[in-house]
Amino acid sequence: MTLEKTQLNELHWLMEMLHNIDVGLVVLDKDFKIQIFNGFMENHSGLLPREVKGELIFNLFDEIPRDWFTRKAESVFLLKNKAFTIWEQRPYLFKFDSYRPVTGSADHMYQNTTFIPLLSSTGEVTHLCLLVYDVTDNAVHKQNLKKANEELAILSQTDGLTQLFNRTHWEECLLAEFKRWGRSQNPSSLVMLDIDHFKNVNDSYGHQVGDEVIRHISALIKQHVRETDVCGRYGGEEFAILLADTGLKNAYIFAERLRKEVEAAVVKYNDIDIKYTISIGIAEVDESIQNHEAWIECSDAALYRAKESGRNKVSLHPKQS
Ligand code: GH3
Ligand code: MG
Ligand code: MG
Repeated sequence: MTLEKTQLNELHWLMEMLHNIDVGLVVLDKDFKIQIFNGFMENHSGLLPREVKGELIFNLFDEIPRDWFTRKAESVFLLKNKAFTIWEQRPYLFKFDSYRPVTGSADHMYQNTTFIPLLSSTGEVTHLCLLVYDVTDNAVHKQNLKKANEELAILSQTDGLTQLFNRTHWEECLLAEFKRWGRSQNPSSLVMLDIDHFKNVNDSYGHQVGDEVIRHISALIKQHVRETDVCGRYGGEEFAILLADTGLKNAYIFAERLRKEVEAAVVKYNDIDIKYTISIGIAEVDESIQNHEAWIECSDAALYRAKESGRNKVSLHPKQS
């Protein structure tokens, strides 16, 4: 075989490979008219190379933002440098369906694209090559991981039985509110409540029924609070509610309403009817309270008072009543 023939053969192979490679390949001229369109592009767009040759890319693919693309391409022509776009910035350049069986959750193909300047023999950039990589698997896995991490973060903040915040997360919220109060001085009240004689419920009917009562009070709390309030399960049958932008008087009204509703309610478990009551302590944050732990102690002291004075009561922090 002559040298010329060998080179021709190699060129032919090269063309074959580029046509069959699992990467999109598009060559554009300076007017953004398509010159080369490989098999990947043909398979995913359903357009034949001869149909697209000489056509303006924006006319065939109206999902490509013309201004953005022009700016990007012009810098490649001018600076003779590569440019990139990744799926996190722009999910795709060409809107192709995703056919992946494993990652079937994606309804389109995620793409990373490289813009390559093509130099002529005189060193001029007259054409531009787009390499389009299908990164759907990567993108879907990354998104699933992010979602799973977000769900995990929520789970790690939530109490399983009541779906309220767990103690650790609730205390973090209280600390944040205490700091916020330091800046804004808006009123804020902390309500602690504890089920009265809860041991009796467990002892009389068993733990399952006790759990049902805990779920009942949690649901009532959720019904009564505003979206900005922060509710947590502080201990076994103790709950803490942070009422943002609420002074002592309004916190008391809130607590009394909740106490009365609990008093009037009947919890049903199979054919058992259970009645129960709660005791509540409230402390509004003020200058005498040094930190968020002291704030908890103040409302806990109020709760102790409510218990001491006969239970099924609302009491205020001793220094504020
Ligand atoms: P008081 O009026 O003084 O609060 O009396 P009490 O019986 O409610 O007080 P105490 O704190 O001594 O008892 C709380 C009980 O709550 C003891 C514990 O077995 C029970 N408890 C704690 N967590 C759970 C839970 O998740 N489920 C159930 N069923 N019971 C729990
Ligand atoms: Mg109790
Ligand atoms: Mg208790």
